[in-house]
Amino acid sequence: MNEIFLLKLGEIVLKGQNRRAFENCLKGNIRRRVKHFGAFRVYLKQSTIYVEPEDGDCDVDGAWEACGTVFGIASMCRCRPCEKTLDAIYEAVLSYLGDALSLARSFKVESKRADKAFPLNSIQLSQEIGGRLAEAFPQVAVDVHNPDYTVHVEVRDYAAYVHGPAQPGAGGLPTGMGGRAAVLLSGGIDSPVAGYMIAKRGVEIECIHFFSYPYTSEKAKEKVLELARLLTRFCGRMTVDVVGFTEIQEAIRDHCPEEYFTLVMRRFMMRIAQRIANDHGCRALVTGENLGQVASQTMEAMAVTGAVVDMPMFHPLIGMDKEEIVTIARKIGTLETSILPYEDCCTVFTPKHPKTKPELHAVEIAEAALDVEALIDRAVLNTEKVTVKYYDD
Ligand code: ATP
Ligand code: MG
Repeated sequence: MNEIFLLKLGEIVLKGQNRRAFENCLKGNIRRRVKHFGAFRVYLKQSTIYVEPEDGDCDVDGAWEACGTVFGIASMCRCRPCEKTLDAIYEAVLSYLGDALSLARSFKVESKRADKAFPLNSIQLSQEIGGRLAEAFPQVAVDVHNPDYTVHVEVRDYAAYVHGPAQPGAGGLPTGMGGRAAVLLSGGIDSPVAGYMIAKRGVEIECIHFFSYPYTSEKAKEKVLELARLLTRFCGRMTVDVVGFTEIQEAIRDHCPEEYFTLVMRRFMMRIAQRIANDHGCRALVTGENLGQVASQTMEAMAVTGAVVDMPMFHPLIGMDKEEIVTIARKIGTLETSILPYEDCCTVFTPKHPKTKPELHAVEIAEAALDVEALIDRAVLNTEKVTVKYYDD
C-alpha cells in the first residue's frame, strides 16, 4: 500500500478501565464510515488507529474526509509506509513529500521511534534523514525551532511511516459511548449546532421536529430533514420524529391568553419530546436555547418550560454569543441550509408582548383550559418517523 492514514486518539487515552470499550467503539464507527469508499482495513496499535486501503479501487480522498468527521480522533495524518531502513525511509520522504518540501522556506525532521529495536534513536534518525534532505534541497534551510514544514518519521511495529504536518481530527468522544439523547431540531441556526455539540461528546442523537402544516410548509419540513442529514455526516444515521403540531397550536391560540402562547406551546413541545425520547431509549433532551436570545429564553421562561420535564435537559449553546454559534454552523456545514427563509412553528401565532418573567402558576392557569393529555396523545400518534442517513446506499 502506498498511502495509509494514522489516526491519533483524543481523550480516550485518559479512560482507564473503559479504554478498550472506547477504542472498539471508535474502530467500529470508523469502519462504518469508510466502507462507503471501498475496502479498508481498520486496526489499532499503540494508541493509533490505522486505516489502510486494501486495493487500488478505494476512494482514498473520500475516506480521508470521512475520517475527519469521526468523533474521538484528536489528529490525523496521511502517510507513506515503507521498510524500516534508513534508505527506504529517505526514499519514501523524497517521493511522498519531496514536492511539498521543495516549496518550503525551511524544514526540520521530527522522528518517533516506537519500535525500540530500530538501531538509531529518534534524534539520530532525524539527523540522518535531515542531513540527506539538506543536501538534496539546498535551497530549503534547516530550521529546527520554527520550520515552515516538518517532515515526520515514525518507526512503528509493522513499518516506518513518513508524513507531513498532521491535521486536527473531529475531537470529542466516539459516538455511542455517551448514551442517546433527543435533539429538538427546528429549522434555525441554533439547534443543529446544539445537536452537533452533544453528539461530539459521544452521544448518539435522534431528532424531534414539530411541524404545523399548513402554517409551516412542506419546504420547511424538507429543510429540517436536510439539516438532520447534514448532522449524520458526524453522528451517523438517525431517526427524525416529525410531530404534527397544528391541532395543539390552534388549541392554544383559541383558548389561552396571548401573552402565554409561546410558553404554553414550548411546554407542549417538551412533554411530547420527553414521551418520544423515552420510547427511543433517550436519556436527555437537547435544545438550542441560548440565554437572553428571545423572550422564551430568559431564566424564568426556561424554568417554566423545563418544569414539565423530568429527564436532564442540555442546552449546549446557553452561554455562547451568536457569532460563536454561527462560526460552528459554518464549520459543520449547516448554516446555508439554516438561513433558508421558511417559517418555523415558533413564529406562528407569536404574541406581540410575550411574558419574559413568567410565573409557573400563571402559566399553569393559562393552560388549564386545554385537555393537555389528550392533545399530547394525539400528537404522538400523529408522528411521522423518518430515517435519515448521509449516503443514499
Ligand atoms: P433555532 O435557531 O434552533 O431555531 P431559536 O433561536 O430560533 O433556535 P426558538 O425558536 O425559541 O429559538 O427555539 C428554541 C429551541 O427550541 C430550538 O433551538 C429548538 O431546540 C427548539 N425548537 C424550536 N422550534 C422547534 C420545532 N419546530 N421543532 C423542534 N424543536 C424546536
Ligand atoms: Mg427557531
